[in-house]
Amino acid sequence: MPAGQLFINGTWRPPLSGETYSPINPATEEPVTQVGKGDERDIDLAVAAARKAFDSGPWPKMSPHDRGRIVWKLGELITQNLDEMARLESLCTGKTLFDSGKVEIPFAADVFRYYAGWATKIHGETLQLRDNAFTFTLRHPVGVVGAIVPWNFPFLLSSWKIAPALAAGNTVVLKPASQTPLTALKFAELGQEAGLPEGVFNVVTGPGGQAGMALVRDARVDKIAFTGSTEVGKQIMREAAGTLKRLSLELGGKSPNIVFADADMEAAIRGAMTGIFYNKGEVCAAGSRLFLEEKIHGEFVAKLAERVKGLKVGDPLDKSTRMGPVVSRQQMETVLGYIEAGKKEGARLVTGGGRANVGTGKGYFVEPTIFDGVGNHMTIAREEIFGPVLAVIPFKSVEDGIAQGNATTYGLAAAVWTRDVAKALKAARAIRAGTVWVNAYNLYDAALPFGGFKESGFGREMGSAGLEHYTEVKSVWVDLS
Ligand code: NAD
Repeated sequence: MPAGQLFINGTWRPPLSGETYSPINPATEEPVTQVGKGDERDIDLAVAAARKAFDSGPWPKMSPHDRGRIVWKLGELITQNLDEMARLESLCTGKTLFDSGKVEIPFAADVFRYYAGWATKIHGETLQLRDNAFTFTLRHPVGVVGAIVPWNFPFLLSSWKIAPALAAGNTVVLKPASQTPLTALKFAELGQEAGLPEGVFNVVTGPGGQAGMALVRDARVDKIAFTGSTEVGKQIMREAAGTLKRLSLELGGKSPNIVFADADMEAAIRGAMTGIFYNKGEVCAAGSRLFLEEKIHGEFVAKLAERVKGLKVGDPLDKSTRMGPVVSRQQMETVLGYIEAGKKEGARLVTGGGRANVGTGKGYFVEPTIFDGVGNHMTIAREEIFGPVLAVIPFKSVEDGIAQGNATTYGLAAAVWTRDVAKALKAARAIRAGTVWVNAYNLYDAALPFGGFKESGFGREMGSAGLEHYTEVKSVWVDLS
């Protein structure tokens, strides 16, 4: 993984511009290393390599058993390199070593092992339609996949795209977020070790507007798998129309976490904590709107605020830290701006509300922040903040809680907390979101699809539903008359 280089067609090479940039460690504000600043010309080379590897290379034709073995090996190599991968991830994102090393990189390894098993299970159907015909379907890989990922879960969200794409026989060009490119580059090295043929997996680091957009516009790319903001998702959709690319878009969220009065309060408080403070709230599915039934509202907020006092904010590499800095100065300013908006619009600040002082005088640390008495119409309840800021909104009845929960342009995730099974299941049906947790928050599995309703995007990742986006169905008629 040589500094300042891109991985194209099985080899490391500097960007054609010769330019590099430094991702910044958000805990120290120091540069981490030099990374290549790829642009349209590098994307051009990477797409050409991926196209050639798909059109005439061994990968799509390889027996599914052999392909599955390589995808499995990638999972094993990620596990073997866990400490380094976790450290690289934490250095650029500010996420705690606990989150990257115990949760996210192991999860990404599972995603590869899960899809390795699918390589041998991709099949069409035979259909008995006419006496004088034999009809069946085939499933083909889509072709060249452009994967564009954000900075909040850089490697995990890449694995959700790369693993099913490879298992189905596609080739990939990955464009990581410019703030967090290191695990993508490390993975390229693991791909070489696992035996991926040249051109099958390529990484171009660089700014989204140039490298990302070039990937979207390139007619030789068959599909874009994008995770990121709704705004950029819409832009990508407009641009992809030019070549009618397949698209899957995993976008933003403003997920409701709804606690009914009959819930196990202790469990719901833990759920509210992980819902908004896991990964400093930089989670697309963050439970950023906490709806509390009026009867329990006061007690719940008091207990939650008490719990927040024990949340250690600090150096992400320190094992006792539970919340690191937000990813960048720009993100910190955005989050602080939303906190000001909350104050101005009349929400009551319960805890936090500013930069966190961790004693070093450096770093983009934001205090875990809770606003109470928020109206669903306020800016902090409508817009995705993508930081450790919780909006608490009281509600009166089951119908009211669900209606307010649904009153958002997003639909990525939701949770309900209750001891009443019927209430939970009715709520799970009524909520318009791609994932609904009951008495839990932030649970994920490689086998369970994840994705959005409404402006949270479309398409699903993980599970068999995720795999479908990486194959095309062909129908074949054979005339027997
Ligand atoms: P972003 O949309 O700014 O960037 C995402 C990626 O797109 C980056 O790699 C970026 O370089 C690239 N990009 C930026 N502009 C581009 C353009 N014009 N053309 C092509 N590519 C471009 O998002 P971000 O700030 O990195 O990440 C935060 C967002 O991601 C949040 O909105 C969050 O909700 C969302 N997100 C969604 C999910 C999900 O699964 N739904 C998961 C994580 C994050």
